[in-house]
Amino acid sequence: MMRAAGLVVWQAHQAAARILKPGVTTGELNLAYRETFERCGATSLFLNYGGPPPFPAETCISINEEVVHGIPGSRVVQTGDLVSLDTGCRLDGWCGDAAVTHAVGPISATHQKLLDVTLGTLNLAIELMASCTLWSQVAREMEALVRDSGFWVVEEMVGHGIGRDLHEPPQVPNYFSEALAGSDDFDLRPGVVLAIEPMVNAGTKKLVCLDDDWTVVTEDGKASAHFEHTIAITSDGPQKLTGPPATDELAELPQWLQDPDQWVIW
Ligand code: MG
Repeated sequence: MMRAAGLVVWQAHQAAARILKPGVTTGELNLAYRETFERCGATSLFLNYGGPPPFPAETCISINEEVVHGIPGSRVVQTGDLVSLDTGCRLDGWCGDAAVTHAVGPISATHQKLLDVTLGTLNLAIELMASCTLWSQVAREMEALVRDSGFWVVEEMVGHGIGRDLHEPPQVPNYFSEALAGSDDFDLRPGVVLAIEPMVNAGTKKLVCLDDDWTVVTEDGKASAHFEHTIAITSDGPQKLTGPPATDELAELPQWLQDPDQWVIW
């Protein structure tokens, strides 16, 4: 049932990726998410979340130095932007959550490396979840990969357990700490479902929240990237619940989503 919710999240990200180009507004991107959730009978987990003020949209859209929680609206996407899209939905009582950062047109070598390292950190975590028995072992390797690349892992925001609710225990940090060496550590065993979401900054890891009370930006104005999947640990290893459809799932998708050559994969 969590896979069903995750597949809706994946479809919504595909719908947004299809219209992402210079000139589109962040509000138009958000509409692609809303329409996908409505078509699939899913409920947004982000709309009206938290506050005050509650988050006013289905998707967090964060561009360049914006790390997370950017509010969609009239902002126009430009060539060279790094556009982070983070969304989640509930379907039949179960949740899915995923994020991706897209490059819009040509970007600098540093920004491409930032995307590669951030996605690489997520993929490393998923791979290590197959063999590690404690999250601290995974987090240590994620942090090392980012540090060895010359970038910084965001520490103020972390991944999370996910199930019937979007944010469930435990907290899932992307770095090692004394707390994670102690009581904050947790077992990786079949049945555990985690939203793994490394956020990586090109410069300082320090963050600032803007006056809208939501948008989080890097203190030095340098770029940030964010990739996330909802991952279930099963007896067959980690499974991407927000990943692309398997062959036997294709029939339930709209025609335009049935061609794997059109998919944005992460
Ligand atoms: Mg999340």
